[in-house]
Order: sequence, then structure tokens, then C-alpha cells
Amino acid sequence: MLQRFILAILIGLFTLSPFSHAAKVNEYLPTDHKYNQTIPTPESVLGFEVGERHIRHDQLLNYMKVLASSSERIKLTNIGQTQELRQQFLLTVSSKNNLANLNEILAEKSKDIRAEDATSPLVVWLGYSVHGDEISGANAAMIVAYHLAASENVDIIKMLENTLIVLEPSINPDGMDKFVQWVNMHRGSSPNADPNHIEHHQGWLTGRTNHFGFDLNRDWLLLAQKESQNRLAYFHQYQPHVLGDFHEMSTNGTYFFQPGIPTRTHPLTPSANTELTQLLATFHAAALDKDNRLYYSEENFDDFYYGKGSTYPDINGGIGILFEQASSRGMQQNSDNGLLTFEFGIQNHVLTSLSTIEGAWQHRNKLLNYQKNFYKESAKLADEENFSGYLLHEAHDKYRLNTLLDKLKKHQVNVFPLTEDFRLDGIIYEKEHSFYVPLEQRQYRVIKALFSKQTKFQDNTFYDVSGWTMPLAMDIDFNRVGRTWGLKLAGNAWEAPTKISSGDNMEKQSYTYAFEWHHFLAPKLLNELLNKGIKAKVATKPFSSRLTNKGKVENKDFAVGSIIIPAGLQTQKNWREIVMESSQKIDIPLSSLHTGLTVKGIDIGSGSFRLLNPIKVLMVGGKGVSQYESAEILFYLDDTLSIPVTVVEQQRLSIIDLSTYSHIIMVDGKYNSLRKSNVDKISAWIKNGGVIYSQKRGAKFLSEYELLSVSFVTKDEINQLFDTDNLQYQDKEKLAARKRIAGAIFESTLDISHPLAYGYTDNRLPLFRNSTLIMEPISKPFISVAHYSARPLMSGYADKNMVNRVANTAVIVAHNYGKGRVIASTDNLAFRGYWLGSSKLIANSLFFAKAFSTPVAN
Ligand SMILES: [Zn+2]
Repeated sequence: MLQRFILAILIGLFTLSPFSHAAKVNEYLPTDHKYNQTIPTPESVLGFEVGERHIRHDQLLNYMKVLASSSERIKLTNIGQTQELRQQFLLTVSSKNNLANLNEILAEKSKDIRAEDATSPLVVWLGYSVHGDEISGANAAMIVAYHLAASENVDIIKMLENTLIVLEPSINPDGMDKFVQWVNMHRGSSPNADPNHIEHHQGWLTGRTNHFGFDLNRDWLLLAQKESQNRLAYFHQYQPHVLGDFHEMSTNGTYFFQPGIPTRTHPLTPSANTELTQLLATFHAAALDKDNRLYYSEENFDDFYYGKGSTYPDINGGIGILFEQASSRGMQQNSDNGLLTFEFGIQNHVLTSLSTIEGAWQHRNKLLNYQKNFYKESAKLADEENFSGYLLHEAHDKYRLNTLLDKLKKHQVNVFPLTEDFRLDGIIYEKEHSFYVPLEQRQYRVIKALFSKQTKFQDNTFYDVSGWTMPLAMDIDFNRVGRTWGLKLAGNAWEAPTKISSGDNMEKQSYTYAFEWHHFLAPKLLNELLNKGIKAKVATKPFSSRLTNKGKVENKDFAVGSIIIPAGLQTQKNWREIVMESSQKIDIPLSSLHTGLTVKGIDIGSGSFRLLNPIKVLMVGGKGVSQYESAEILFYLDDTLSIPVTVVEQQRLSIIDLSTYSHIIMVDGKYNSLRKSNVDKISAWIKNGGVIYSQKRGAKFLSEYELLSVSFVTKDEINQLFDTDNLQYQDKEKLAARKRIAGAIFESTLDISHPLAYGYTDNRLPLFRNSTLIMEPISKPFISVAHYSARPLMSGYADKNMVNRVANTAVIVAHNYGKGRVIASTDNLAFRGYWLGSSKLIANSLFFAKAFSTPVAN
């Protein structure tokens, strides 16, 4: 008897241990369902219970493949591959019959939904762990998939006959494995709930982001990353009525589900959306109430920025819902609410996944009607607008223009080429360079969201950016068109052009080849040529040359920044083949010049052409440095321009020989690990000819050590901009919101004669600002390369006191330091991979820093 008692205690203890007691699959699931025994449980495939370990992406995929092959209710679709070659996949769960006819069902969905005969089954899409270190979602997805595949409950069978459930178990496979590897390698053999343990604290680059360091939960609208592009094609095929987006938040939280803060919903989202979200919330609440689990809604999170998984559906006829589970990060952690285990979080996400499906099923007619009405209402709203559409225009850089057109197409927006030149407000829109986006189309709200320049808001607190106007970010002219009389359009919408080979008519015997710097990929071509030993120079003054184009002799103007490749400088026998091959591959046309004598401006042998040298770039990284900003610049330089960048953690800088590097990049961050000796080393390196490009707090750091001759407005001075008399305690958050710039677009005036601005033809350049770092006015001439306009706010929210303080101050500065150069910006020039307008300033800092000379002492 005693023995049995001890055994019972032992078993009791045993089952309390979170390591050995990962819940069995049925403990996660409703007790009143019978399960088909032929469907394999996760444990039978993984070899351990869900929640016992952090599963890797290959284990997750493997289980889902086994499930799909054993169940007639599941179809696995490969939707693409990540940068690290992991498979992105979706599971479609439905009846056998529906899956057999899936293509027909989806084709029916692609018909105009406003038509009376348009039919659609209910579509519920559940996406998990877009932030790869919020991994309870991906683990919950296995339980949800098993439940839907194996339950023999008649209600489930009936529901699946009329519903498509789409599961995306891991939205960010590369981030997931980055994180899982961390936890698995740091967890001990015995449970450790100490929040200080390394298991819960990732290194510099966390699993939140994808391979490139991008937050995929900001990328739904921007589409800078391939994971988002791959997914979006399927999203638009399925057109979900409800989309659940499963995350984790801070360890001391409880559980959150939307609706979010009511005053912070974007005005383009219909109010019926919030009402349906509330209706579904009653199902989540009931599921969590049953088990006495804590939760909340309508606080902390909002529905404003449309680049998130829980907001993008809101402008696409669906209901996006955010779920946030307090994170155990590793296996378990002590929290304000007691011991928080991994499996507890998984359980919560299973409960709300099922409550989302249940709620959507119970209210299917409301959701189906909502989607229909959403598009009917969009047509009405488009009709009520006082303008008909937008004209887009870009004459110099096809790459930026086509990138914008391609993003619009991926959002299902139709854009039409012009067939005749069109005059609007005194500007002629040439047909070759102009495109029209009519408002009267299905994606009216998406167009409004992408083109909006809103600067006034009901609530001034933003969880994320408040301005993201896409043509401004890409520096493409756009104008509202009131009256379309005389506007002649092609019958078919724009399609991506096939690559036009440009070097075919490159002449073999040219005196010099030349290409212009307007093209977004010009730095890529230049870098490749320099690395292959080709000698090239940049024009610091304009010139015109006579050249033959398709048999015709004509004069061509070359702006400053044009690159020449003179035959007389080349040392390699096959240099012409190298030049031709690279220009064809990168698709940048070359001009052939037959004489060194130009028609106008500098001759080819002039000293105003500056010889360019190959570059070798180092970026200071490591803990403390913004992983987003370093990622954005790496993505631009390394992935887009094929310029490799050596990343050195600030803690390691002291052992690096800087003399082999031409450039150092310092982005926003805390550089606490850079001691005085490192600064002396950097200072000596610049004096000796090095070039440093710095952004935000990277720039401030250089100014504190007097490498950058600019001072910054102090925090005190910014505080003094705000009158705090008569404020009550409840105004605290509002005041903090006024003092922030969470992310807005500001207009700058660019000195397009400065070498750092080569390739720009318009001196008005929109910039993205998400900090309150402001440089004091600079009295010396030529140091300021760009300054803010007098009324700079173009899009998004910033308090008027802040806008006034920013007005007219310098934003990009550059000057000599010994033989080297120091370049600094208070703004984020390559933000989120879609700021193609300003990112070129970074490439220019690499190639043309020695083409200017601005000593500070003058
Ligand atoms: Zn998250």
C-alpha cells in the first residue's frame, strides 16, 4: 500500500515536470471528439510529444507531409523557397470532394465577387509564427492540422464540406530554425525557468526576422522579401474571409486577441470589420474562459499599418485577427503570472485556432456577405471620389518604375500604359514613361492605402509607421487625375516586360564606352567592372558626345555621374568582352563614343573625370547595433547590388586591420562596446583616406567623438518644444506619442550638383524618418548635401512642433576628415527594402566620396 502510495507520488511528480510531461495530443484537444486511429499523431512521427522540444522546420514539414499522405482532407502545397532553401508550404484542409475540385473552386473565386451568381465556400486562413522566435504557433499548427484531419465528429465533417481551411504552419522558416537552434543548443537536461538563462536570450540576429533580417510581419504591403511575394499569390487566389495571425508577446503578458485599440483602426477598414472581429472574439473568450485562462483585447495593439498579417486582409475583403501569447521563449520561464511553459502557450493558440474556425463557421453567412459588400462598397466609394485615378511617371530609371508596377500587380491592382502623351496641370506625360492607375477597380482600397498621404489622424499613437506612401518611397512622380478626357490607355493592364538585351549593338572599336548613373542598378554594374579590373571614371561635369545609334549619328547629353570606360586606360586583352557581358547581364545600355573630343562640356581626357577604385566595405555590427538597419543596408548592397559587405561585431573591431577596407558603415545603434582606442583607430583610418557612412545614432556617435563636425539637438531641447502645463497623469501616453516620430515621410531638398547625389534629376527627395535625431544648422557651405524643406511633412504623423523644428535642418552631411570623408544621415535611407528612392545615396557614398572635397576648416 505504502509502495503504491510512493509510486503515485512519483508519478505525480513525474507528470508535473514540464520536460517529461509534454502534453499528449489529446490533452490539447476537445474531449468529446473521436479521432481516426489511422491518422498519425505528431508524436508518432516526431518521436516526442508536441511541446516537449522546439521542433525544427524540417520536422514540421515532415509531419505535415505524412499527414497529407494519410488524410484525404489535407493537401500540401509548396509555395516557394526561402533564401536558405527551406520550403514554404500551405495545407488546405477540406472535404475530399472539395480538394478534388480545388482548382475549380478557386477559379470560381477569381470571378467578380460582386456578381449575384458568384459563389464561394467559407475560407479561413491561419498563419503561424511569422516571427520565427514566437514558435508556439508553429507547434500549435500540428495539433490543429491533426485535429482537422482525424476528428470523426459530424460537425467537423459538415463544416469541412463547406469550408476551405488554409494553414501556413511556418510563415518564416529561416527565422524559425535560427531560433529553434538557439533554444535547443542552450537548454539544459533539467528544466530551468530562470529568465536570465541564455536559452531565453538570443544573439544579435534573432529568429524574429527572416534570413535577410527583415520583419516579414511588416512586409505584406511592401513585398520586399520573397516569402511575402510567394505567399501573396496564394492569398489572392484563396481570398480568405478570416485570417488568424499567431504571435507571442512579452513573457509577463497573458493572451491577447483582436479587436485592438478602437481609435487606431485605419479609416479605410470598414466598421463592419471591427464588429465581426468582436463577434469572433466572443468565441475566443468562451474557449479561454472554460479553462480559466487570462486574456484581454482592445489594448496595446492596433489595426493601422496595412503591412501586417492581421491588417492586410482588412483591405482585401477579409477579417484579419492578431493573437498574441505571452512568450516562454525557451521551454519555460518564471513570469509575473507564475510558471509559463511552452506547452501552455501552444495550448492557447490551439484553443483560439479552433475558436476562430468555429466562430467563422457559425457566422459564415455574415462573413460571405461581408466580402461581397466590401467590394460593392469599394465601387461606390471609388465613384464618390473627386478624382479618377493616379498618373505615374518616371523617365530615367525603368528599374524603379517597373519595381513599383510589379508590386501593384502583385496586389492585384491594374495599371494601364498610355497610348498617347497626356497633358495634366501643365506637365506632359509622355506615353513611354507614364502609367495610369484608375480608382474604379476591385482593389480600390489597396490603391488608396498605397498612395495615401494622410497627415492628420484621429489618434496620434502608432504601434508602427504612420506613413508608407509607396510612390514617394520609390521616388516616382504621381499625380491625381481629375478629368480623364483625352487620356488614351492600352486595353490590357501592364505586364512585366521581358528583359531587353542592351549590349547587342555595342561597337567593338569604341574610343570609350559610357553609361548613365540614373539606373538603379548602375552601382551594381560599376562594382562588377571595377572588381574585374576594368578602369572607369566618373564625370564630375556634364558633357555631350556625338554617337551613332542604330546607324544614325546624334548628340547625346551625359549628366554628372555618368561613367566612362576609356579604351586607352584598359590593361586586359579581353576587356571589351568583360564590359559587354556585364552590361548585358545587368541590363544597362552602354553608349559607344568614337572620339575623346566632345561636342559640349568636358573632353574624355579631362581632369574632371575622376578615376574610380574598387571598394571593400566593412559594417560595424554586433549586439547593440540595430539589426533592422544593418539588414536593410546589407540587403541593398549585398543582395541587390552584389556588393559583399564584411560584418564585424563592435566587440571584435579592435583586432581587425582596417587598412584593407575602403569604407566603414555605422547604422543606428548603441556603440557602447567601442572604446576610445577603437575610436582612435577609426579616426586614424579616416585621416589616412578611409570613408565612413553613418546613419542616425551611428552618426551621433561620430559627432560625440568629433569625427563628424555636426552637433545634434539635445533631448532637453526637444522636450522643451512641448508645453506640459496643466497636463494630467492620464495625458502621459499622449505626450510621449507627440514626442515620437514613429515613421513618417519628410521632404528634403537635395543638392543634385553634389557627387553624393549623382543620378538624381529632381532635387525634391522624400525621405523616411523614424527618430527625433535632428542636426543643428550648419553655417559652413557645401557640407549639407540635403536639408529638409520649409514644410517637410509629406505623409504620416509627426507633431507640428516637431515638424517645425525639423524644417530647414540638414539631413545628409558630408565633409573631409584628413584624407578621408565622413558622411552622415539622420534618416533611414534603405528602410524596409522598399525605399528605392533614397537608398542610392548609400551607393553614391561608396563610389563617389572622393569625387567631392569639403574641408571643414574653410
Ligand atoms: Zn510577433
